[in-house]
Amino acid sequence: MRIDLKGLDTQETEQWAADQGFEPFRARQIRQWLFKKLVSSFDEMTNLPKNLRAILHEKALITALECVKTQESNDGTKKYLFRLKDDYLIESVLIPEQNHYTCCISSQVGCAMDCRFCLTAKKGLRRNLSSSEIIEQVIHVKRSIPNQDQIRNIVFMGMGEPLANYEAVKKAIINLMNDDGLNLSKRRITLSTCGLVPGINRLGREMNIKLAVSLNAPDDDIRDALMPINRKYPLRELLEACRTFPLHKGERITFEYVLIKGINDQDQHAQDLVKLLAGIRSKINLIPLNPHKGIPMLPPSEETVLRFQDMLIKKHFTAIVRKSRGSDILAACGQLGSEGLD
Ligand code: SF4
Repeated sequence: MRIDLKGLDTQETEQWAADQGFEPFRARQIRQWLFKKLVSSFDEMTNLPKNLRAILHEKALITALECVKTQESNDGTKKYLFRLKDDYLIESVLIPEQNHYTCCISSQVGCAMDCRFCLTAKKGLRRNLSSSEIIEQVIHVKRSIPNQDQIRNIVFMGMGEPLANYEAVKKAIINLMNDDGLNLSKRRITLSTCGLVPGINRLGREMNIKLAVSLNAPDDDIRDALMPINRKYPLRELLEACRTFPLHKGERITFEYVLIKGINDQDQHAQDLVKLLAGIRSKINLIPLNPHKGIPMLPPSEETVLRFQDMLIKKHFTAIVRKSRGSDILAACGQLGSEGLD
């Protein structure tokens, strides 16, 4: 079987090169072509000797994603639809900020977590992405913009639950962060989870990136109804994992709270949320539900959203109402996968 070079870290690439009889600097050259010059073929690796290129052709491969469609939203958000080798489709989103971009990437084809407000959940889990399929989303998106260095934030908030595909996600993060990878700051990589407690604990031990938790409810009854994972890892366990998650100075855990009309948007819910998150260094992102015909729920009125936010702010929480970016092209939070899985 051919070795997938973007799925290897630095040491593994050096080991592979050594196994083929080449010096470590050849591995560094290969990684430079892959992660700095973003080439997609061995023939472009012009400073490698011919015999190494012949070996690469014979024994290695470079994962590439076929971009079958891009859509641009009124607000500049761009959605990429990629076809994988086995014809499954995944989506990534590029979100323009003031002078840089955030790239939102997928970690699985579909998702098994079945959150009731999420379109990705509708078709279930098809398979995990490999680490190279994960990082290739960033590489492809980088190639498609004029100034590649402007991608500054990576968020694992696309299709899938990243902690349910831990090993591949970890490997991709290593290559996102390494100097000889995409060299992105770990403080600019955020992993969002629906609450897989063992994965959160492991992430805290092994990786130094930022954590976001898709919370969406102030108590177990509501969370059980919205997010089946809560029956396995209830709020008490989830928040304990958050309390012990290692944070650097000034860092906070982001709690995402999708506001849904009549379900989790009342004054009492805001008060309960205040009690629930007491003592955790946190920031709350309030996201009015992005409505879709496939989801039998609605967003609250703007007045309700602002009232909810105000109650949190009055209790000294940082609470930000997130604008829905790209909702006209179904690129907004919880809307990915509508095309990808059909
Ligand atoms: S919200 Fe996230 S974890 Fe929940 S079903 Fe959707 S993709 Fe999966």
